[in-house]
Amino acid sequence: MLRRTKIVATLGPATDSDEALTRLIKAGVNTVRLNFSHGVPEDHQRRAQQVRRISAELGRAVALLGDLQGPKIRITKFSNGAVELAPGDTFILDAAHDANAGSQERVGLTYKDLPGDCGAGDMLLLDDGRVTMQVEKVEGSAIHCRIVIGGKLSNNKGINRQGGGLSAPALTEKDIADIKVAAGLELDYLAISFPRRAADVAQARQLLEQAGGNAGIVSKIERAEVVNDSAVLDEVIRASDAVMVARGDLGVEIGDAELVGIQKLIIEQARIYNRPVITATQMMESMITNSLPTRAEVFDVANAVLDGTDAVMLSAETATGDHPYSVVEAMNRICLGAEKQPAVQLSTHRMDWNFARIDEAIAMATMYAANHMEGVKAIVCLTESGSTPLWMSRINSALPIFALTRTEASQRKVALYRGVEALLFDPTVYKAGNDVNEAALQVLVKEGLLQKGDRVMMTKGDTMAVVGETNTMQILKAR
Ligand code: PGA
Ligand code: MN
Repeated sequence: MLRRTKIVATLGPATDSDEALTRLIKAGVNTVRLNFSHGVPEDHQRRAQQVRRISAELGRAVALLGDLQGPKIRITKFSNGAVELAPGDTFILDAAHDANAGSQERVGLTYKDLPGDCGAGDMLLLDDGRVTMQVEKVEGSAIHCRIVIGGKLSNNKGINRQGGGLSAPALTEKDIADIKVAAGLELDYLAISFPRRAADVAQARQLLEQAGGNAGIVSKIERAEVVNDSAVLDEVIRASDAVMVARGDLGVEIGDAELVGIQKLIIEQARIYNRPVITATQMMESMITNSLPTRAEVFDVANAVLDGTDAVMLSAETATGDHPYSVVEAMNRICLGAEKQPAVQLSTHRMDWNFARIDEAIAMATMYAANHMEGVKAIVCLTESGSTPLWMSRINSALPIFALTRTEASQRKVALYRGVEALLFDPTVYKAGNDVNEAALQVLVKEGLLQKGDRVMMTKGDTMAVVGETNTMQILKAR
């Protein structure tokens, strides 16, 4: 059975050999993530080339997603690697402190303006909240804190403020340089970290375009101030080509109790605005070392599928974990299980909507007809840019959506869309009408995706191979 939910896997040392990457892609990865927080441009370049080579060998369309580090605020280093802090201890975060000389009393900061952004009473969460300290006063470059939750604090750990609002700009100098690297690598998607407003997304897009890139921009939703104001959330989603529920940083800023509702809200809004959405972070965390997921992880992945996510993401589980393929296999299995639930196979979505475009109306009419007609086995769309299958994939269904497209770039772009399988097919070499229909269905029969006699719904344009021209839906039988 085809899996509808897409799997994004982060690459790292655990996936670097050809053998490891081959197994990972074979296990079902649809999109790989190059994490610009680690490594140098040559690492990303090498991995991108390796993914292209191996996915071509395997005949799989695997999309490449770059992920910019963004203004993650961090402490610098300790002279002996780590300290142990106890509740009630005093501790100083000092922007002027030597970056390698952290001690039991004080440590340096990567973001020199942090003291200006903090005030007495602020709760600072270090290492995703494993160590928490409250600001007592700020004096010049020094933030004087008292430890609330104690524990081990080691080199380069991240800092978030409860409630969000730290004012670091979304694109750092490093991000601006990495955007050029991303453009050179011709990535399919580029994720930006900690955007505050639509303007941040627009700036990233402009820089990417100036550098000659045309990746889809994925906004990571990970700041409290974005989700606390529905107008801001909406503008960020609409400025993006896709979004990510970045639960790691977001959960630290808004608190874990708020996270469940916000995940559902982000997914719902993304679907309303026709944007694919990735649910990320700690989905299978225990599998970094264990060979099986916990029951809680099984339910987390399944619940994201039931919420309507397009994709689920693995971070350290694949990049540095002990079981990179087993974790993909487990995710594959859990997604397939969740997709059997009737709630995600039927749709009442958009029953009372008006459609602005002809191709959108055809896409919606096709999903309605396909879901309600007995014996339909698949939806087939001949698409140039991938926008028809994107609309279709916003609607719940149990039927596969086969996107037949002329370009490998469109084939990789739809690798993120729920329920969509893309195949290469060039309609322009056939006579319009029956010849094209026959040839398109033949491709699917040959691939074993359709059987002779299967009934399908097909969409295409009278003028083929032109963006936005879809104006026809037909009900056909594969022969
Ligand atoms: P990160 O983003 O892994 O790059 O921090 C995801 C998240 O914050 O959840
Ligand atoms: Mn993050």
